[in-house]
Parts: sequence; C-alpha cells; structure tokens
Amino acid sequence: MFAKIIIDQDAKALDREFEYIIPEGMQVLVGERVLVPFGPRILQGFIVGITEKSEFDASKLKPIKEKIEDFAVIKPEMLSLMFHMADKLHLKLASCLRMFLPSEMRTDKIKELVVHFCRLAENFEMPSAKAKKQIEVVEFLKQNGREKRSVLAEKFGASAVAALIQKGVVILEAEQVDRVPEFDVLKSEKKQLTALQQRAIEEISENKTYLLHGVTGSGKTEVYMNLIERELGKGKTALMLVPEISLTPQVLANFKARFGEQVALIHSGLSAGERFDEWRRIFFGQARVVVGARSAIFAPIENLGIIIIDEEHEQSYVSESNPRYDTHDIAAFRRSYNNCALVLGSATPQLESYAKAIDGEYQLVEMPVRVNGLEMPKITVIDMLMEMRHGNNNIFSIPLMVELKEIVKAKKQAMIFINRRGFSSFQRCRNCGYVAKCSDCDVSLVYHRFENRLKCHYCGKRFHALDVCPSCGSSDIKQGAIGTERVVEELHKMFPDVPVFRMDNDTTSVKNGHRKILNEFRSAKPGILVGTQMIAKGHDFEDVLLVGIVDADQSLFQSDYRSIERTFQLITQVAGRAGRSANQGKVFLQTYSPRHYVYRFAANYDYKGFFKREANLRKVTKFPPYARIVRILFSHEDEKVVAQECKECYEKIKEIKEKNAEDFVYLDVMKAPVNKIKNKFRYQILMRFTLENADALEKQIYDSVDKKAKSSIFFEINPNNLS
Ligand code: ADP
Ligand code: ZN
Ligand code: ZN
Repeated sequence: MFAKIIIDQDAKALDREFEYIIPEGMQVLVGERVLVPFGPRILQGFIVGITEKSEFDASKLKPIKEKIEDFAVIKPEMLSLMFHMADKLHLKLASCLRMFLPSEMRTDKIKELVVHFCRLAENFEMPSAKAKKQIEVVEFLKQNGREKRSVLAEKFGASAVAALIQKGVVILEAEQVDRVPEFDVLKSEKKQLTALQQRAIEEISENKTYLLHGVTGSGKTEVYMNLIERELGKGKTALMLVPEISLTPQVLANFKARFGEQVALIHSGLSAGERFDEWRRIFFGQARVVVGARSAIFAPIENLGIIIIDEEHEQSYVSESNPRYDTHDIAAFRRSYNNCALVLGSATPQLESYAKAIDGEYQLVEMPVRVNGLEMPKITVIDMLMEMRHGNNNIFSIPLMVELKEIVKAKKQAMIFINRRGFSSFQRCRNCGYVAKCSDCDVSLVYHRFENRLKCHYCGKRFHALDVCPSCGSSDIKQGAIGTERVVEELHKMFPDVPVFRMDNDTTSVKNGHRKILNEFRSAKPGILVGTQMIAKGHDFEDVLLVGIVDADQSLFQSDYRSIERTFQLITQVAGRAGRSANQGKVFLQTYSPRHYVYRFAANYDYKGFFKREANLRKVTKFPPYARIVRILFSHEDEKVVAQECKECYEKIKEIKEKNAEDFVYLDVMKAPVNKIKNKFRYQILMRFTLENADALEKQIYDSVDKKAKSSIFFEINPNNLS
C-alpha cells in the first residue's frame, strides 16, 4: 500500500503530494501525521490519500518512518477544505493544513497537562505521632478524599507529602486536566424575546446564508444564542465568530453563562497550553459551541448546525498575512459541506454582503429598531473649522466639552474615539519639512509620548524622538495630528479626578489586557474610555451616554476604494455604543468636511440610502463588488531581483490583457506604496477587471506567476489594504 503525503514545509517546491510506502504492519488512516524521510532529513507530513497502486516506480519510493499520533488529526471536512483553499485561494497545501492545528502541536513543545492527585491507600498505617505534619495530611485526606499534590505540599510541606507517598500511605494518581482560559461569567438570564428577535429567529430556519441587518443595540447576541440553543437541541453544534479578542470577554461571558462547559474559546490571546487544550476539547467532541476570532473558523468541530459571523463587516475577518484568506469564503465552504445555516450579522454590513442580499443570494433578515424601542443616539456633526474660527484650538469642540462636563457631573460614562494610537502621528520639522522615517520600512514613525520614542507601526522598531531636525538642524519640531495618548492627557487636564482609560494596541498587548481595561472602566463612574477602533466593537455598557468622535475624517481620505464605506461603518458602530439601556445617548462627530455625504447618511442612520449611493458609485467607476481587483505583491531583499521578477510577470499579464481587452479596466506595475518593510523591497502589479470572465482570468493570471521566482509572491483578491 502507498500513502500520498503532503510535507509540512512552507515551500513552493514541496507544494504537492509525495508518495511513500506504507510499511508492512503499520496501520495508517487518511488525515494522520507521520514522519517521513525526505532527502537527508526526516520531516513531518500529512497523509491525504491511500492507494494500492503507485503511479511511480515503487522501487524508488521510501517507506514511512513512523506515526506521530494514533489518530487522524485532519478530519475529512478539513481535508476537502484544504483542497478547496489551495484551488480557489491559490494557497500552498501545507500552509492550509497548518491553519487546522494549534501551531504548538507541530513543534512538539506542548504536552497534555498532567496533574498528580493524592489519596489514601486502602489499608494504611498511621504515621507516628511525632510526624505531626504527616498526620495532618492524613486527616485532611480522610475529610476531603482526594487533593492535588501541589495543594497538599503548599499546605503541609512537600517533605511530609513525599514521606507519606514513599511509605505507601498516600497513593499518587496522574490525571490529564484541561487548561481552561480565564473568563468572566456575567449573569445572563434568558430574556423574553422581543417581537423582532422572535421573527428573526423564525426566519432563520433553513440551511441557507442569512444577512442579519440589525441596528446597534437591536439584540443580535440574544438572537445568536437562541439559534445556537435550537441547534444544540437537535444534537448539532455551533460555531460563532467575533471580530477581535477585545470583544470576546463580554460575548464569552454571556456564552459561558448560557452554555457552560460546552463552550470552547479560540483566539490569539490564549497561552499555547490553553489553545491546545481547547482544540482537543473541540476535536474530541466535548465542546459543542466554539466561540472565537478569525482563526476559529478552522476549528475541528463536526456536525455543524449553524455558523455565525458577528459584525461581519469587520476587516479583521480578512487575514492579510500568509496564508491570505477571507473568513467569509471559508465559512461558505463549511456551510455547504455541513449543509447548515450561515448567519452574517451586522448593523453596517459590508457592501458586498448587502449587494448579495439584494440579489437574493443571501436572505435578508432585518431588525431596524433597538430593544425596548429605545431611540438611536442623536448624532451631531460639528464643523471644526468653525470652531477654530471662533477661537477654539482645543482637541474638543465646545459642545463636546459641555457634554463631557455633564457626564462627569451625573457620574455617567463617555467614550472618546480617535483613530490613531500614540501621542501624535509623526514629528515634522517646520523649517524644512523633514519627517522621521523607519530605517527598515518606508513609512513615517509615530511619536509615543509615554516612552518618548518614535515607533514604526509596521515593524515595531523604536527610535529616539527628534529634538533637532537631522536634516537642517532646526529645533522647530511640530507634532502632527493627535493620537490616543494626547487625548488622555487633555482629559486629565480637564478632569483631574476622573478615571480615564486608554484602549489601543499599546495598552492591550499584554495577556488579558482588553479584559482588564474594560472591567475597570465598567465600574468607573464617572469614567471616560479613550480608544481606537477597538472601542467601536460590540461593547455594551449601560452607562455610556456620550460618544465623542474626535477626528472623523481620519479614515475618510485614504486612497482606498473602501474608505468611505469604512468611515460610515466606524461612525455607526462607535455611535452605537451610546445610550444602550434606559437613556438616549448623544454623539458628537467632529470633522473638517461636515458636508460630506457620508456624515449625512451616518447621522441619520440611513444605511440603505448610503448603500444606494455608494453602490452606484462603485458600479459606475467599476470597483468591487462590481469588478475584481487583483494585486500581486513581490517582496525580496534585493531591489533589482524583485523589480525584475515583477516586471517579467507584468509582461505576461499584459499579453493576457491584450487577448481580453474588453474585460480589463486597469493594469499597471509599480513600487508598492510602502516600498520597503523589514528591509524587504516591495513591488506590485495591480489590475482590475469586470466580473464576466473574472474567475477564468484570475486563474490564467495566477498560472502566469513564475513558481520558481526568488521573491516572495502574494496573490490578493480585492485586498483590504493596499500599503
Ligand atoms: P447588538 O449586538 O444588536 O448591538 P446586543 O445583543 O448587545 O445588541 O443587545 C443590546 C442590549 O439589549 C444588551 O444589553 C442586551 O442584554 C439587551 N437585550 C437584548 N435582548 C433583549 C430582550 N429581549 N429584552 C431585554 N433586553 C434585551
Ligand atoms: Zn529640518
Ligand atoms: Zn519599520
């Protein structure tokens, strides 16, 4: 017998199946991991097929060396998914498989956690009266039956316990225990459903894809939980994705309260051991509800009854590093494989999804009002140029300051949103215009006040802050636009006694960082939370009555076809944090372009109006979802190599374009906007074509990429980020 094996190496040359002989007496299954000789090395591989006849000269094949586990780590569904991803997303087979296992399993560093318990032997001799500690241990075990060795050692001393074990008075029992991630449990009584929730649950009844368009505070979480409950009742399982870990403490707490031990949690903030144990609980069917961030879409859960993607518009569902994928595509595959329902939920669906709902590809389910008929918070658009003309050069407009004072007086809470971490965006010389840049990446550095350092947000490298301009020697250095740190500093000046919290990438990078900040904020009354996008997401604080958006334009003027859509989503989501329980909230949106249509639609909560306008624009200008953008990104240390290889590829695509001239809207080759990251130069081919022949064209273009090129090559479809 022969096995078809994929070698667990992320290399273009190894991206295919290799055949090995299954040695006499070795029982293997498809999906198992094995060690195989490969050249002079022994490598890990996955068995993806077993055949009786080899396509090759059997005398040239080598035998499998040994098995790694005694069970198939890759289940049949995931194997199909691998082939699907390789084919549709142009990914390497091994890099797909790697997504399906906790990375720790491949490095062999992580083991099951074994805990030693002590119990008394059946017939034991009481220790002599002199050994007081030992007698205490025996008494304790008589009372309590069994206890962890570590606990006994701490209580009574390690030597007493060791002596008892040695004499055979105490018996040691080893047991594998699961490491369970920390979480808060909220009290979450089952709520009497509103009529809208009830209707939504009834409508979501078939094995289809649903777009649940529900305004912020319409009670989508409760709908999800009821849907999951229904599936569990049928003996099925559920997978629920949330955008980022900043969200999971609350959602998870709710889910743990409702579903208890059946819930498993997967996100990048877990320790290696926790991740491994949660994965095992899912794999072996102990956990029937998986809640997690993007990578949880690859959880080895079987018998799915429902997949939910909460806040489906979030960019974090798109993986922008290798392997590049969009969670929506993987979810669509798993939905169809399991023949189950897929629910995409959002107050601001991505344009692509809403367009599909209108075309009937998805079924639209709407929840247009908040729970208990609560009003949406009133959004006031503030013209910051007018503020300046009236002599206010502060970060905060007068109306926002007035409201902040009211909130503090009433011991309520406010959130201030600013789309940039750090103190200010950059340092610029006023004399000559010099801006400090990273030495390894082609980007400006961001000033961080607390550390008094300039940081590169692409590679993390730190640099001394500027005192004098290295270019002209002037000491007239200006801080650019403001960031979170600066806002916190201003608030401290205004309200020295009010706790102000900061939530951004800097303050949440420690384990459980989000949870800590959110928990502290929850009990601070009055309290103010300042943050980046992270605070826009799904949080539900009943005393937040005011939201300030300090610089709404930040996301508007980026050279990206989705920047207006993103701005609309951000405003709606941030605004949605206000007034979620009894009182109506207020939102102040500060902008230098108050007449931009995005603010008009956002201030009126007019998603449909915005969609119409934006969709029309995309149709006319031929942008996704009404066209396809493909970017091929080349990167390499040697600029000559990458420029050359990129150019060669471009020439081939130009030929394809000539044959399909009517399909192409655009094709060009250029340096990537960020020309260098971590000392690797980046070049790109950018193209756009209409949808009629898009799949066929995409395949032709992919095939034209030289698989032997020295550069790393990334193939991106409708990329989120064109830096
Ligand atoms: P969304 O995700 O749609 O923004 P949430 O699911 O966070 O909204 O719900 C908003 C608030 O309404 C939460 O505090 C939630 O506990 C509450 N809620 C949801 N459903 C009900 C209900 N049927 N009755 C009372 N309160 C509800
Ligand atoms: Zn200068
Ligand atoms: Zn850098």
